Amino acid sequence: MKVAVFSTKAYDRQFLSAANSPNQHELVFFEPRLNHDTAILAAEFPAVCVFVHDQVNASTLEILASRGTRLVVLRCAGFNNVDLQAAADLGITVVRVPAYSPYGVAEHTVGLILSLNRNIHRAYNRVREGNFSLAGLLGFNLNGRTVGIIGTGKIGLILGQIMKGFGCHILAYDVYRNSELEAMGGKYVELPELFANSDIISLHCPLTPETHHLINAEAIKQMKPRVMLINTSRGALIDTQAVIEGLKSCQIGSLGVDVYEQESDLFFEDLSGEIIQDDVFQRLTTFPNVLITGHQAFFTEEALQNIAETTFANIADVEQGRPCPNEVRAQPQAKESVK
Ligand code: NAD
Repeated sequence: MKVAVFSTKAYDRQFLSAANSPNQHELVFFEPRLNHDTAILAAEFPAVCVFVHDQVNASTLEILASRGTRLVVLRCAGFNNVDLQAAADLGITVVRVPAYSPYGVAEHTVGLILSLNRNIHRAYNRVREGNFSLAGLLGFNLNGRTVGIIGTGKIGLILGQIMKGFGCHILAYDVYRNSELEAMGGKYVELPELFANSDIISLHCPLTPETHHLINAEAIKQMKPRVMLINTSRGALIDTQAVIEGLKSCQIGSLGVDVYEQESDLFFEDLSGEIIQDDVFQRLTTFPNVLITGHQAFFTEEALQNIAETTFANIADVEQGRPCPNEVRAQPQAKESVK
């Protein structure tokens, strides 16, 4: 099949080309994101392949459909950037990669926790400058501390298992209980109890209307003073302005984020040397106790390989008329936003 692959970086091309060799699909890689303006690039391509920041809205889909596209292949799990109803109306099938790196994301989360707690990000710079002072680098033992995990699906469970290995107590909140987490000693509680008793709070639930700004001023007020807050899930789970206030008052002791509400204007691009216009993001970067990574938690060799292989398995299912287990259709859950 002829596939127009949008939002590609060198690493995407490498892993997709390698996984495509037995399939012999005709892949054409485009660096720009797919949106209303770039959709014309996919003229006469029966399939387009997209990632998290492509804008597959109704107007983009109309252009694609009018030029012969019948398949949208997501290289991610989240489909909040696709208008599924418009796709269905236009006869376009949408498929995705439902899960590809739960270990990668959980391990990156632990990396943020360890770096923030022991100030490794600051020590790295200090030592390079010949500053070997320990002032301001004081951490705490993870052993015996309480980690509150919100969302105990694939990633939240693995994080719980790893933190249990450090000797932490695990509190959890989810709309469904995970028996594996309970079996290893994790305790489900309501959110106020989790907020009040956790030394570290880590977010692993999807972004939905219910979880939008789950961490707001009211929630922060209920947390232990100097709590460590970690978000590797979705930026809009956090009200960033409220978190900035929490950092300024020291109610939040440290913040580690791999995602940011307005990240699509920033992440995955090299903007060094440019003037960043987002003042909220820039304020975050001024705190010594804030560590930000640019949506890289998923970014492991295993994940890129898994994404590439699942992408071609999905294309093969649709091409050969088989039911594809990874097809997504318009329904209420389509509002869920996972990546
Ligand atoms: P999952 O579907 O296995 O688990 C999500 C869990 O959240 C489920 O147990 C679900 O019941 C729970 N949940 C749903 N609504 C909730 C609510 N209102 N309150 C509390 N819990 C709720 O998903 P996963 O694979 O573990 O991924 C978790 C999140 O990680 C994703 O939603 C995605 O946003 C994020 N993610 C980030 C990256 C990255 O690179 N940073 C990569 C992959 C996934």
